[in-house]
Amino acid sequence: MAKYKVWIDRDQCISDMVCVALCPDVFEMNPDDNKSQIVEKWRTDPNNIAEGIIPEELKDCAEQAANSCPVSIIHVEEVKE
Ligand code: SF4
Repeated sequence: MAKYKVWIDRDQCISDMVCVALCPDVFEMNPDDNKSQIVEKWRTDPNNIAEGIIPEELKDCAEQAANSCPVSIIHVEEVKE
């Protein structure tokens, strides 16, 4: 099963929650700065809320969020084994 790296350029997030609406299994809003972050379950580094590795079944919704983000700051890329 392929895995996918997802990351967000959080400093440019405009907090419109489009990604959370489309793919809440991967994206959530940070209650402190009100910007999008990766759901904790998928983070690979506990100190980096902007990046995670997701399984194949979440790729489509993550890509939909990436394509719908108005400032195009969500990235999805297959992890090469
Ligand atoms: S869709 Fe983009 S701008 Fe909107 S909350 Fe998500 S990351 Fe931020």
